[in-house]
Amino acid sequence: MIFTNQDFKRNYKQIVLKKIGIIGQKKIQKSKVLVIGVGGLGCPLIMYLANSGICNIGVVDHDKVDLSNLNRQILFTPKDVGKLKVDIAKKILKKINKKIKVSCFQKKISKQNIEEIISKFDIICDGSDNFETRYLVNDFCLKKKKILISAAISKFDGHIFNFNFKKKTPCLRCFMPEMPSVSNNCESEGIMSTVAGMAGTLQANEVINTIINPNNTMKGKMIAFNSLTSNFRKIKLSRSLKCIKDCSKR
Ligand SMILES: [Zn+2]
Repeated sequence: MIFTNQDFKRNYKQIVLKKIGIIGQKKIQKSKVLVIGVGGLGCPLIMYLANSGICNIGVVDHDKVDLSNLNRQILFTPKDVGKLKVDIAKKILKKINKKIKVSCFQKKISKQNIEEIISKFDIICDGSDNFETRYLVNDFCLKKKKILISAAISKFDGHIFNFNFKKKTPCLRCFMPEMPSVSNNCESEGIMSTVAGMAGTLQANEVINTIINPNNTMKGKMIAFNSLTSNFRKIKLSRSLKCIKDCSKR
């Protein structure tokens, strides 16, 4: 993809940043980023990926828009209720920048299809709403040495992870070894809209940071925040012994 004069003008405010520059902006443009789940996290994430200049974006979601999504899923309006989320996401991405190559996967990610969906992308963003998908994506990215930027939200809390599996870093199983028995997602727990916005935006921020500097300081760490107390913490994760033994075999 050619970096045109138009691209230069459009992204000028980033290009003048010394840590980005023209080289960084070209890296951003040609990165291939996959977003799993066009929900509370995926919506702000997709917008910021597109607006910051990424020109190759994949979106995975099998679902249609529901009225109860609208408090946090900011790509959608009431007239979208009942429509496929991936279709609306594609339309909006093209509106933001017609140069963006959008790949839509209107399906639930599974053991059978994960390879064909993920393999073409460099950075995988997990914003899914269930633990089965989270563990599946974690294990697959680990096996294929992908970069996984994952986020999870519930009530007033958000967690953001940056796993670069090209290096020996911890994974989701090091943080949460077993799948919790009671599924806690926004369906049952409730979610504050701004928590989704902050977590999705932080996820986009990690994507950009990783593109411009793969050795950024979040590697192998997580961010935990609470929106009621405005408390933000950066927590170092360590590889569990069990994981060192098991994860490499997955
Ligand atoms: Zn692990």
